[in-house]
Amino acid sequence: MSANGLLIIGSSQAGVQLAVSLRALGHAGGITLLGDENHRPYQRPALSKEFLQGIITKESLIYRTQAYWDEHRIKVVKNERVVRIDKHSDGSGVAHARSGEVFGFDRLALALGARARRLQVEGADLPGVLYLRNADDALELKARVPVVHDVVVIGGGFIGIEAATSLRKLGKNVTLVEAGPRLVARAVGPETSEYLAKHHAENGIEIVVGAQVTRIVANGDAVGGVEVNGRVVPADLVLIGVGVVPNTELAQSIGLACENGIRVDRYAVASDGMTIAVGDVANLPNPVPGAPEGDRVRFESVNNAIEQAKVAAYAITGRREEYAGIPWFWSNQGDLKLQIAGLSTGHDRTLVRRDEEKGRFSVLYYRGDRIIAADCVNTPLDFMAVKAALAQRASIPYDEATDPSIPLKSITRSETA
Ligand code: NAP
Repeated sequence: MSANGLLIIGSSQAGVQLAVSLRALGHAGGITLLGDENHRPYQRPALSKEFLQGIITKESLIYRTQAYWDEHRIKVVKNERVVRIDKHSDGSGVAHARSGEVFGFDRLALALGARARRLQVEGADLPGVLYLRNADDALELKARVPVVHDVVVIGGGFIGIEAATSLRKLGKNVTLVEAGPRLVARAVGPETSEYLAKHHAENGIEIVVGAQVTRIVANGDAVGGVEVNGRVVPADLVLIGVGVVPNTELAQSIGLACENGIRVDRYAVASDGMTIAVGDVANLPNPVPGAPEGDRVRFESVNNAIEQAKVAAYAITGRREEYAGIPWFWSNQGDLKLQIAGLSTGHDRTLVRRDEEKGRFSVLYYRGDRIIAADCVNTPLDFMAVKAALAQRASIPYDEATDPSIPLKSITRSETA
C-alpha cells in the first residue's frame, strides 16, 4: 500500500475498532481515522446515563490516549466533514472535506453511523427541544438540566427510556410518550415491555403509550409543552428519541448498493468489492447461526460495531473470517439492567422466568424446540447462559427452564450430548 493507506470515515465505535483491530493484526499500512465532530474519538453509551447524571466526566469517555494513536501510527483527524468522494475502480480515491482539505486513500472504509430522525411537528425547532445522539447533544442537554423541572421525552426506545430514567434520578418530572402500543417494541417482546413500563412508572415516570404528538407548544420564545392526544403536557425541556436514519448518502454518491444501510457481504465488503462498511450504517447478512438464507439485518449496537469491525479488519488483511458470536444488546435504565441475547424474530413461543422477590425477570424465545433469544432484566446469569447456548448451538429445553430458581446453565445441553 502506498503512503495514502486506508481512510476510515467515521471515528466512533466501529471506526475506532477497525483501526485498533488492524494494528492488533499487524497491518502495517497507513491508517487515517477521520471524524466530523470536534472531539477526540469517544464512547457514546454513557451519554444518556452516567455522563448525563454527572457520575463521570467527558474526559473519561475518550477512547484512547494520544500516545496510543501516535505509537500505532493512526492519524486521527477531527472536525472534518467529507462532502464528496472520487473513487476509482481499484477502490482508491480522494475524499474532499467541507473545509477544502483532501484525503487520498488506497482503500476506503465507511463507518458513517446514523443520525437522529427528526420529528416533523410544529414547534420542533423551539429552543429547549433537543436530541441526544452525540457528545455535543449531551453537553447541551446536561447544561440545561439544572434549570428545568418538567421534561417530556418523545420516543419510548432505548435512548428515550435511558434518558428519562437519568432525568428522573436527577429529580425532574418526566413524562415519556411513545407512539406505539408499548415500550422498546423493536427490541423486546410484550412481556418485557410491560415489565419495564411498570417499573419505570413505579419510579415516578409518567408513561403514555399510543401517544400522538400533534405539536410542541411555545411558552414565550422557548418550549412550553407538548400536545399529546389532545392535551398539553407542560415541559420546559423536550427530548426527542424517535429512532435513527443510516448515513448512506456518501455511499450512494459513489454507486454502492444501499437498502436500509450500505449493503455488505459477510466480510463487511460493499457492492464494489473493495469498500468496507461497518457499524450502524451497514446492512449485513444475518449472522445468527441458523438464520433464514438471504435474511439481512442492520444492527444499532456497540457489540455489532465491534464484531463487524473485527471481521472487516480480517478482510483488509486478507483473511476471510465471519462474524463471531451472537448479536447482543444492553440498556441500563436506572436500577434495571436489560440484556438481550440473539434475535427473537420468528419465535413461536415464549417462556417467562420471574422472581418478584429478587427483582429478576427474563423471557426466553423459542422457535420450535430451539431457543433463539432472551430478554433478561437483572438476570445476568440467564443472559450469559442463553448467549453461550446460542453460540454453541446448544439447547435449553423449554419444559426444564420454567423454574427461575434452576440455573439455565445447568440444563443447557450440547447438540452432540
Ligand atoms: P429506537 O430504539 O428506534 O426507538 C425509537 C422509539 O420512538 C420507538 O419506540 C418508536 O416507536 C418511537 N417513536 C417514533 N416516532 C414517534 C413519535 N412521533 N412519537 C412518539 N414516539 C415515536 O431509537 P432511539 O431510542 O431514538 O435510539 C437511537 C439510537 O441509539 C438507536 O440506534 C438505539 O439503538 C441507539 N441506542 C442504543 C442504546 C443501547 O443499546 N443501550 C442506548 C441508547 C441509544 P415505533 O417503534 O412505534 O415507531
